[in-house]
Amino acid sequence: MKTYKIACIPGDGIGKEVVPAGQEVLEALAASGAGFRFEFTSFGWGGDWYRAHGKMMPDDGLEALRDQDAILFGSAGDPHIPDHVTLWGLRLKICQGFDQYANVRPTRILPGIDAPLKRCTPKDLDWVIVRENSEGEYAGVGGRAHQGHPIEVATDVSMMTRAGVERIMRFAFKLAQSRPRKQLTVVTKSNAQRHAMVMWDEIALAVSKEFPDVKWDKELVDACTARMVNRPASLDTLVATNLHADILSDLAAALAGSLGIAPTGNIDPERRYPSMFEPIHGSAFDIMGKGLANPVGTFWSCVMLLEHLGEKEAAARLMQAIEEVTADPKLHTGDLGGKAKTADVTAAVVSRLKNR
Ligand code: NAD
Ligand code: MN
Repeated sequence: MKTYKIACIPGDGIGKEVVPAGQEVLEALAASGAGFRFEFTSFGWGGDWYRAHGKMMPDDGLEALRDQDAILFGSAGDPHIPDHVTLWGLRLKICQGFDQYANVRPTRILPGIDAPLKRCTPKDLDWVIVRENSEGEYAGVGGRAHQGHPIEVATDVSMMTRAGVERIMRFAFKLAQSRPRKQLTVVTKSNAQRHAMVMWDEIALAVSKEFPDVKWDKELVDACTARMVNRPASLDTLVATNLHADILSDLAAALAGSLGIAPTGNIDPERRYPSMFEPIHGSAFDIMGKGLANPVGTFWSCVMLLEHLGEKEAAARLMQAIEEVTADPKLHTGDLGGKAKTADVTAAVVSRLKNR
């Protein structure tokens, strides 16, 4: 039987609650005659590891992950450690080390979920946001000088390369082409950012020629936020820079009902390295350690993980089980206005996988 090696990195906060829940659901799926098995390895990296060792993960940590088939990640972020230390020391180290340059973020309104847009039905909102995940505003280029003096200066330089923009555009056009509507919106800000974003637009136009069957348009990022709210059905696949897509995808998650539901994949499309799947939410300091976290974002991320492994049928079965569970308001966690706990939602998904 085929065995997939999955690295689990719960990280911090509610990551420690939702990643084990995700593992439980994947185990149940494999045990219910899926035709494959999993070999899980857990890594206790994150804030606790930082307190013990002075870093978020070991220097040779990537070596331990390299031969895994995929990574299931929770969250990096600890109330007692600066956010840029936790983020750069763990999540970005993996994303950048493994050149996971395409960050894919699907958004749908799942059955039973009350989304805030009153004129929007589930069929009006079915998006995938493709986020450039390797450079741009989060390239890490910049610095500080004269620290603490009145003349202090600090820069974060957005850096875009032709190769980097070409590969994310090609990925986004290909993804749009694979979806029924074959429609892509290229998000830009080339009116105000007159160098890199102009190159971004030029490359979008050039790459579009390779995909004559994909309808595409361009939208400025600020106008795009309004369009997401006012005309959600006019959007399908979107591609945006690292920063723009970071913001748009939190908006997308909220419009679909909750940050606790939204999944993401950090993908190396060339499959040189393992790809990494995670809920888009963070450590949720306000509810951590209480068993209140919504695990649905992690479960949906597990669906993306299965799709990436080529296990389409198992992925569809898990998604079906998730949607049956969200359809029942008694199984909603606090973020959705319900009273269910992480363990209740997990048990409900597991039991639906068993009874099939
Ligand atoms: P957050 O996503 O942790 O929380 C925002 C709000 O949403 C909180 O009220 C939280 O309770 C709620 N929420 C989020 N996920 C939920 C879930 N699954 N179920 C129920 N409620 C949920 O964002 P934040 O407060 O901006 O960040 C907290 C920490 O997490 C920071 O250290 C930040 O850097 C980190 N963070 C990490 C990642 C990541 O590793 N991918 C992403 C975002 C934030
Ligand atoms: Mn974010």
